[in-house]
Amino acid sequence: MSNIIKKESYPYAFDTSACASCEGKCCTGESGYIYVTKNEIEKISKLLNLSVNEFGVKYLFKKAYKYSIKEIKIEDSYECVFYDRATNGCKIYEARPNQCATFPFWEYYKTRVDELKSECPGIIDV
Ligand code: SF4
Ligand code: SF4
Repeated sequence: MSNIIKKESYPYAFDTSACASCEGKCCTGESGYIYVTKNEIEKISKLLNLSVNEFGVKYLFKKAYKYSIKEIKIEDSYECVFYDRATNGCKIYEARPNQCATFPFWEYYKTRVDELKSECPGIIDV
């Protein structure tokens, strides 16, 4: 099976095999916002066996009218609290936010391929 994902109207493709050796660049590095919707908050809370309120207090912060997952700073890296360095994976993978599940195919990157390439080693030209 091919590891290459292409999507119509995107000027790049994504080689999923790059994730194995990349050490979660999309979950670590520069600080950013990992937005979660109300439905996603409910799903993650359920996965973690927490009430929505407990989950919110522990793992979220408010950014304008939205909520984002917190980060922790490790040396120079701002890492999503759910990034697992030991396995190079996501601790809430089954319930990860859509923002994470759709990366690197974000509208934003359609016109910023060089920026995306500097963030994700799996990006290839089509
Ligand atoms: S930055 Fe790209 S290659 Fe690295 S884990 Fe994220 S999606 Fe995979
Ligand atoms: S929720 Fe999971 S996939 Fe999304 S940034 Fe955090 S560790 Fe990465």
